[in-house]
Amino acid sequence: MTNHYDVIVAGGGSGGIGAALGARRAGARTLLIERGPCLGGAATLRNVVTYCGLYTQELRQVVFGVAEEVLAGLRELDAVTEPRKFTAVAVVFDPESVKRVADELCEQAGVDVLLHSHVLDATRRDDRITALRVADHSGTHSYTADAFVDATGEADLAHQGGAEVRYGNDGWVINGTLGVRFGGIPADVAVDRAALASLIRSVKEAGRDDLTGERGLIARMPVSGDVITYLADEGYDARDAADTSRAERSARRQAQAYLQAIRSLPGCGNAYIVSTGPELGTRESRHLVGRAQLTEKEVLQPGPVDDAVAVCAWPIESHPGPGIPSEWKHIGEPGYYGIPLDVLRSRNTSNLFGAGRTVDGDAGAGASLRVMGTALATGQAAGVAAAFTARDGDVETAAVRRELDRQGARLPD
Ligand SMILES: Cc1cc2nc3c(=O)[nH]c(=O)nc-3n(C[C@H](O)[C@H](O)[C@H](O)COP(=O)(O)OP(=O)(O)OC[C@H]3O[C@@H](n4cnc5c(N)ncnc54)[C@H](O)[C@@H]3O)c2cc1C
Repeated sequence: MTNHYDVIVAGGGSGGIGAALGARRAGARTLLIERGPCLGGAATLRNVVTYCGLYTQELRQVVFGVAEEVLAGLRELDAVTEPRKFTAVAVVFDPESVKRVADELCEQAGVDVLLHSHVLDATRRDDRITALRVADHSGTHSYTADAFVDATGEADLAHQGGAEVRYGNDGWVINGTLGVRFGGIPADVAVDRAALASLIRSVKEAGRDDLTGERGLIARMPVSGDVITYLADEGYDARDAADTSRAERSARRQAQAYLQAIRSLPGCGNAYIVSTGPELGTRESRHLVGRAQLTEKEVLQPGPVDDAVAVCAWPIESHPGPGIPSEWKHIGEPGYYGIPLDVLRSRNTSNLFGAGRTVDGDAGAGASLRVMGTALATGQAAGVAAAFTARDGDVETAAVRRELDRQGARLPD
């Protein structure tokens, strides 16, 4: 493998998969670097098993392209549900199948993928990132590229490469949650959310003050029939291993307490934990400081999307703190909003783009555009923009929109 690429994408979650495929199909030699053993990010490493942001409240699909290819791959494996309305509309999937679908999409497109490779630092010259260094068990290795996409979730590459970043918004970050997957609950037993919430409340009132969420998402998964729950909230600094380690231990303690509560529901006596995480799910960390920032107002009162490179149909879903109920604000007509290119484009680094939850949104917009369905879309747009920047030194919105259309990522009118 040569060490120079047109485009390097750091982070192989939803944003990174979208970006690598978008860049490669736009003609760029593309390297995708992931620190974990598989692609998928939160979908495969954090028990987050619902793709959000793809469908309006009326169940109209508004995101296509790579997102639709991932869904099609999952449908072939019978590994994804039809869209379902929870508070908003999502599909539930089997994470093992996401690993395979992502491997195959990248392989077929000709993306070079490096797993088990942690991006350690980056080199900057003037207003550009020129190289990055990754670590594996044999040591450290350098890679150069003409353009980069930061899809690490924590905006590690931007931070290391001297791009402007910001941790959370207004001195605050949305809290994280450990996704816990339960087995042993027979298929004909419906886990009653209201009954579980009141049970958790009474356990808390009886003195278990380490339990947090009462009403997070609870859903049956395809393939296994396991039940996924987002209940065990934690507040921590995602940049700090010591603080995250404390939160991981605390969340696993919570998971055991939730198991006891679930076992006391009718029909759930044989429930057991299939898996926690394996990692805590982080909803927000660093954002790239973009040439523009998407605002809550633009989400709630959407304008025309003719200058957008991606759209999102997920409402503002804010998690103000561990155990505090989530706050929802719904998108105005037509039920989705556009995300302009400048929101993905670094303000002070001309060849760097953000994808997924690194994208620049204020507290409200960030709490909407962070979801994985939208990350696939911002990723694909960032990848195309990076490919054209690598080729031409700059990029225009109209060119990105034309290429996205050619790639099947048709944007609504
Ligand atoms: C509990 C919880 C529930 C959620 N519920 C939903 C939901 O129902 N539906 C939904 O769509 N979204 C949901 N979200 C939001 C969603 O999970 C994230 O916002 C989304 O995963 C963002 O995608 P991403 O690609 O930006 O980041 P991630 O999925 O976090 O992917 C980032 C990737 O980068 C890799 N990486 C990080 N640093 C480095 C480095 N230095 N070097 C190399 N690789 C690196 C990571 O290993 C990871 O694979 C939820 C989040 C949480 C925590």
